[in-house]
Amino acid sequence: MTDVTSRPARLRAVLGDACAGALALLLPVWCAGCDRPDVALCTECRRLLRPRVCRRPLTAQIDVFSALDFDGVPARVVRAFKEDGRTALARALGTALAAAAGEAVEATGHDPLIVPVPSSRRAFRRRGYEIAGLLARRAGLSPVPALVSRGTVADQRGLDRRGRAENVAGSLRARGVAGVEVIVVDDVVTTGATLREAVRALSDDGARVVSAVTVAATPRHAR
Ligand SMILES: [Zn+2]
Repeated sequence: MTDVTSRPARLRAVLGDACAGALALLLPVWCAGCDRPDVALCTECRRLLRPRVCRRPLTAQIDVFSALDFDGVPARVVRAFKEDGRTALARALGTALAAAAGEAVEATGHDPLIVPVPSSRRAFRRRGYEIAGLLARRAGLSPVPALVSRGTVADQRGLDRRGRAENVAGSLRARGVAGVEVIVVDDVVTTGATLREAVRALSDDGARVVSAVTVAATPRHAR
């Protein structure tokens, strides 16, 4: 299926800022956070993407550091980046992710390998880009694609905590990380099922996962 909504973002990315003014006449743009016209991300919404890193337990040994609450404007911007092909938003979201990664690295005291959670094959075919990998690069990190998706995972939305865990069990495989310290990166943590599957796969390959970082975390009241 052709993703029509992603075309303007891709065109703008290709042609750059110089043509953005002329293109705006042909390709309408609106703020990803509040629908204000003629701006990809307005000043007010950009302010709401300022990171306030929170740290929560993911497993008995590992914490997840998240920069934003997955709610309101941050949630809208993440969805526009993921579902509408607005890849230019990765820079603003990456800035938030960098703050979370900074705290995670500081807590570790080492220089771990940054490994993004891969998209499912189906999601990658639909979007044409890796969500966590692109965010990590825009955060100024050097992600290493040591995790691969093996097969199809059904959409996690609408599943409860247990359903999500069963849905992702065995869906990831790691390679080349034996004896290496790793921080796992993803866009959003909800129940943590996907991140725990990533930790499982990396640990099975011999890595020592020290923490996880995400751009956003679903607020507890919404879980
Ligand atoms: Zn806005």
